[in-house]
Amino acid sequence: MPETIFGGIILKELAQIASAVQVSSTMAIDALAKQMKADGVDVVGFGAGEPDFDTPDHIKAAADKAIADNVTRYTPATGTMALKQAVCRRMEEDRGVGYGPSQVVVSSGAKHCVYIALRALVDPGDEVVLPAPFWVSYLELIKMVGAKPVVVTAGESARFKMTAEQLCAAITPRTKALILNDPCNPTGMVYSREELEAIAKVCVEKDIYVISDEIYHGLVYDGAKSVSFASLGDDVKARTILVDGVSKSYAMTGWRIGYLLSSEKIARVMSNFLSHSTGSPSSISQAASVAALDGPQDCVEQMRRAFEERRDYIVGRIGAIDGVSCLKPQGAFYVMMNIEGLLGRTIHGELIRSSDDFSSALLQHGLVATVPCGGFGAPGFVRWSYSTSLDNIQKGMDRLEAFLKG
Ligand SMILES: *Cc1c(COP(=O)(O)O)cnc(C)c1O
Repeated sequence: MPETIFGGIILKELAQIASAVQVSSTMAIDALAKQMKADGVDVVGFGAGEPDFDTPDHIKAAADKAIADNVTRYTPATGTMALKQAVCRRMEEDRGVGYGPSQVVVSSGAKHCVYIALRALVDPGDEVVLPAPFWVSYLELIKMVGAKPVVVTAGESARFKMTAEQLCAAITPRTKALILNDPCNPTGMVYSREELEAIAKVCVEKDIYVISDEIYHGLVYDGAKSVSFASLGDDVKARTILVDGVSKSYAMTGWRIGYLLSSEKIARVMSNFLSHSTGSPSSISQAASVAALDGPQDCVEQMRRAFEERRDYIVGRIGAIDGVSCLKPQGAFYVMMNIEGLLGRTIHGELIRSSDDFSSALLQHGLVATVPCGGFGAPGFVRWSYSTSLDNIQKGMDRLEAFLKG
């Protein structure tokens, strides 16, 4: 067996599962963009995976109060009763799904919640169906629990949405779960009720669990509404672990609060696991999250409207530029730009063979940072996050236009 060598000291090999985890494919370009900015270069960034808004004041005030009131100790491992009740109220009001506090597990961010959900559902060797394009972390998280990702690709012509038939074809006797992310990062697509019902029918018939990441539930446009997977019937709800959190809707990414809603049995398994691994989520952030969920919701609507205006602008601009195109996203704050027509071309002396090449050339010659989607299971696409000001979006689009003429 090969050994790890550290400063001449020979050690045993590290764990295979952990060592196989890949560094995020978006990191290289992100690091370069940060370096350029640090060097004083005026880069316009479209890589943000979080709202650019500040956390609303009434939420921050609740955190201040929690500190002043000495709410600074451990809480129950899976969150305070106050927060669990607030989560249940909001789920009922926004999505029409009823859960009790004993079915809620709070943890340190929705990302960690996906990990905990996988921990509860799968053993090494189990298969997990993952529709592509996908959020990069899912793929690595599946591998981190020793399971096998089964990627099902939904192309642009299918509006990046997996069909029930595709799901059915991907299921084997080893399939334990499906990860569904709706509204979707990176595509911005939102499944219709009919599409979800067809998928749910397959999950029930084939007896598989569903991890439904609904973190962008509140960010949908054109008057549309996102349907919560668990709302599709008792047999669907029983096999669903709903993942959500305060990060995206309330601009609270740094507060690290996410939650899981499931059957009591699943909640118990996740709870036991958490009690030994994280202890409890931050007491102060939990108090702030209660204020977010129970307080006035007009801040959510204001941010949603700002995102919608930016979406309309960026989609309009991309649509008017030769050589690139995009579908109009209906949710989240990302747009996937198709650059397949540019592959094989040379722009500013750089041969464009992939979306990685494109993003790298656009950064170096156009001073615009985007995220290439090869790592998201969508080679030929570049993701723009419109979680940035309209001024920045205008500047970025002007630069894209100029870059493509070069
Ligand atoms: C941002 C994001 C999350 C995560 O959020 P936390 O900050 O960990 O709560 C989860 N899923 C998707 C798809 C996301 O884009």
